[in-house]
Amino acid sequence: MAKRPIIARSVPTLRKALAPFRKKGDRIALVPTMGALHQGHLTLVKEAHKRAERVVVSIFVNPTQFAPHEDFGSYPRTFDSDVKALTEAKVDLVWAPTAAAMYPEGFATRIAPEGAALAGLEDKFRPHFFGGVTTVVSKLFTQVMPDVALFGQKDYQQLRVVTQMAKDLDLPVKVVGVPTVREKDGLALSSRNAYLSLPERTLAPTLARVLKASAVRIKKGEPIEMVLEEGRAEIAQAGFAVDYLEARHAVSLAPIASLKDGPIRLLVAAKLGKTRLIDNIGV
Ligand code: AMP
Repeated sequence: MAKRPIIARSVPTLRKALAPFRKKGDRIALVPTMGALHQGHLTLVKEAHKRAERVVVSIFVNPTQFAPHEDFGSYPRTFDSDVKALTEAKVDLVWAPTAAAMYPEGFATRIAPEGAALAGLEDKFRPHFFGGVTTVVSKLFTQVMPDVALFGQKDYQQLRVVTQMAKDLDLPVKVVGVPTVREKDGLALSSRNAYLSLPERTLAPTLARVLKASAVRIKKGEPIEMVLEEGRAEIAQAGFAVDYLEARHAVSLAPIASLKDGPIRLLVAAKLGKTRLIDNIGV
């Protein structure tokens, strides 16, 4: 039977657990998560094992990246089964801070990312989000001091923002993006898929299907705005409320009008009933 990972809930416990890894000269990989783990997260863990001798997974549902009307309270929390999955995945350490360990009384500092964090995508609909994400990720980086940190391309804007933050703040960590893991029907795995009713679940792959078809058409040279307009209509027709379907420069996330200004990333966010889903694909 695989050995259960060490579980640390306070910064001193975390530091104590990391010390022997460091002393041995082992490289450390960090996979930040909010728990409710699925095969997407476990793929990040697998990639982490390829890049470091020790793998740390953080589980923290970060209150500062949720707006008051969002799903912080109802976000799925499945700690025991998460630890079981991480045991099987041979993770060395689970960093699961309490809210008080992460944000002690009097906490008063927040990172304000710009650039890709102000691209007019997720930030337009979740203005709290990237400030909360960069604040907690910078704390995770200084707490764990990983050599490498793995993030999913599923949250593409987040991956760009975190990569930029590490560079701008000279954080000595290599940020690695891992391709999105999908269900057989194309739906990107997400902890929030658990919110979908059965009929919603059958409609949900529309997002991935439209992204894929749009990417093919744009690559063939069809006018980008026309393809996107038709894509938005198809997603709305399926019953979603579309937040955005956009073509952006894959690195800067700036608007892009033509293939030759490329590499292009298509990004979508839409609500199906109460569930907000996001996805993206390269052209
Ligand atoms: P979350 O727990 O949703 O905050 O996600 C934690 C990490 O897992 C983030 O870096 C996500 O981008 C990544 N992730 C979530 N879903 C997927 C997926 N379907 N494929 C690959 N990575 C994912």
